[in-house]
Parts: sequence; structure tokens; C-alpha cells
Amino acid sequence: MKILVINCGSSSLKYQLINMENEEVLAKGICERIGIQGSFLKHQPGDGDKVTIEKPMPTHMEAIQSVIDALLDANYGVIKSMNEINAVGHRVVHAGEKFATSVVLNEDVMNALTECIELAPLHNPPNIMGIEACQKIMPGIPMVGVFDTAFHQTMPKEAYIYALPYEMYEKYKIRRYGFHGTSHKYVSQKAAEFLGKPLSELKLITCHLGNGASIAAVNMGKSVDTSMGFTPLEGLVMGTRAGDMDPAIVTFLQEKENLTSEQVNSLMNKKSGVLGISKLSSDFRDIEDAAEKGNENAQLALDIYNYRVKKYIGAYMAAMNGADAIIFTAGLGENSNLVREAICKDMDFLGIKIDAQKNNVRGKLTDVSADGSKVKVLIVPTDEEMMIARDTKILISK
Ligand code: ADP
Repeated sequence: MKILVINCGSSSLKYQLINMENEEVLAKGICERIGIQGSFLKHQPGDGDKVTIEKPMPTHMEAIQSVIDALLDANYGVIKSMNEINAVGHRVVHAGEKFATSVVLNEDVMNALTECIELAPLHNPPNIMGIEACQKIMPGIPMVGVFDTAFHQTMPKEAYIYALPYEMYEKYKIRRYGFHGTSHKYVSQKAAEFLGKPLSELKLITCHLGNGASIAAVNMGKSVDTSMGFTPLEGLVMGTRAGDMDPAIVTFLQEKENLTSEQVNSLMNKKSGVLGISKLSSDFRDIEDAAEKGNENAQLALDIYNYRVKKYIGAYMAAMNGADAIIFTAGLGENSNLVREAICKDMDFLGIKIDAQKNNVRGKLTDVSADGSKVKVLIVPTDEEMMIARDTKILISK
């Protein structure tokens, strides 16, 4: 069984074709600059060389067609006919309260996702465009939607209701949803495998630290709390997002700087986080380099970032009455030994001790906790595409 995984953004589209017999990635790539001059596709067959194909892609239709053409190409393709693709798994950001698991996409589901656009105006429209383009170009091939919010639908009410007038929830569905669910689910499962214990016996804290960042409390395989909320802006400090802050700052800033709601939204989402504090970059490699050279704002950005993650770990240990393991994943979580070390420093009261030497590793499934650490500290590389493909396989095999 071969499954095509599609992750469609507003101007980019990432894909992977996976052979589910052995979970081998047959090909992967990305279309960039969709709808903009100079669009191109970067395609990589298996372990083969990357090729770049320049092609106009005014809409997601041309992008999907380019992906299919690349997969079928005589030189760098990996299949002979489109019919070899048994199903397509689509990443969809927001499913609101409608779906707590992945689902086969049909008209009803598409209508429900369209209703969720107001909850994710930047993310759901391109996701939907990608699905519709695939449905036109690959008629008859089953499609599955895998939602970033679904895994967190198990959160109890006390974790997801904001202390606003309750009508705001009833009228507008303003509540905490959480995101990165596919990643939190994948690394939880992988960690359980690695620890040799069933998920149903584990309390895990999963730290997805990428450009966007979130942390989740996963009790017996179920998400019981997570740091992102109504939108991905809440919670941890991120590359360019502020995370938690006093909401009164919003109206204060609007008045002082004469900003529209859109401008203040953009300030908090695109100009804040480590970029805002460091005045330098949203990329942690730049921040770590600058901090090492003595740049005080870069160091401050790192300190604030790490401190926020540390506080959430403490909170989630309180929420679950302990934890068996802390899991680090995504770009920064997998690669930065400095960040992992700083977060786990002085946590021995909570039973968390990291081993500096073991921690000196990148992107590898590893136990980096010190001997005798009550709580394991693990690096678990995430693989959202594989999780999407697995869910798709299960659903279309039913
Ligand atoms: P996203 O999927 O949200 O774009 P990623 O999970 O790819 O994010 O993570 C990207 C982030 O990971 C970047 O901000 C980058 O700074 C950080 N990162 C990647 N490699 C390293 C590294 N070797 N050291 C420190 N940070 C890294």
C-alpha cells in the first residue's frame, strides 16, 4: 500500500509518498512560491539526488499536478501509474470540536472543515484548497484528513475552558484547542515503544520545540493539557510568537501605537518571540551563536524561552501528579543540547536529571537522562508525515 501525504500551506506544499509495507519513504519534496512568480518544486526520490523543477504554479491545482508528474517521471519518478497511490492523507490544522480523530474525507467532513475556517483563517483555507485540488486530479482515490487539533480533544473542560463569560464559548466556541497534535501523538507512541511500556501506563510531557512550539501533558496516551490555545499564539515563547502574556497589553498597545487589531495580531505573531527579544533572528542557531559571542539580548531571549518551557513542565507534573518521561522533539528540541540542558537544569527536586555527555547528541532517539533520574529525559525525533500515513492506512483499511 502506497500513501501520499500532503501538507498544504498558503504558498507551499510538502509531500511524501510512503510505502506502508515497510514505512519506507519512496519520495518527498516541496512546491514553493505557489501563486507567486518563480514557483518551483524540489523533489527527492528515496535516497536519490534532489531535483529542482521550475514550473508556473498559479494555484494549488498546478502544484498537485506537478507532484504527480514528478512521482511519475521516467528519470526521477518512483511509480508507473497514479493508480499505485492507494490513498492520500492530508494534514489539516483545525477541526474545531468536530473531530477527535482522523477521518475519511467526504462532503460532510469538508463542510465541517469549511465551518472551521473562522477558527483558523490562515491555515484551513490552503488545507482545503489542497484537498479539493487532489480530489479533482486524483478522482476515486480515498482521502483522509488528519487534524492538528484532534489529539487534544481529550482535554478535560477545566483545561480547555477560558475564564471568560461562558456565553463566549457557547456563542463562538472560544476555548483552548491545542495544535501540533499529530506530533505529540507520534512522539508519545514512539517513547512508549522505546521505554518498553504500554502508553496506558505512562505519564508523558512532550515538548515540541520548533519554530512554532507547544508542550503537552499526555496521561495514559491521552492529551490532558497543552500550551497552545484558541490559536497557536498561546503558551511557549516561539520563533516569532509571544506566547503567554497579559491580554491587557493588546488594548494598551492598540491605543499607544495606534494599531489596528490586525496590526497588533501581526506584532504578537510575527515580530515577537525570540526574534522580538533578540532583535536579531527567529532562528535559534543564530540566537545561540550570538549569545555565545556575548550578545545580551540573544542570551535574554534564550533565558526567557527556556524558563517558560521549564515552568510548563512543572505545571504539567502537577497536573498529572508526576511524569515518567519528558520528551524533546522538533527542530530545536531534537538538535539543541544547550536548550535541553538549560530547561532541565535545577529540576532534581522534581526527579529530572540530565546527563550532559549523553545530551551531546542531535536528532537521534536517545535517553539523555542521568543515571538515577526518576523521570526519563528522551529525545524523540518527530515524524508527522508518518503519523498521517499510519492514520490514513488504518482508516482506508476499515
Ligand atoms: P517548524 O516545523 O515549526 O518550521 P522545525 O521543527 O523545523 O520548525 O524547527 C525549526 C527550528 O529549529 C528553527 O528555528 C531552528 O532554529 C531550530 N534548529 C534547527 N536545527 C538547530 C540546531 N542545530 N541548533 C539549534 N536550533 C536548531
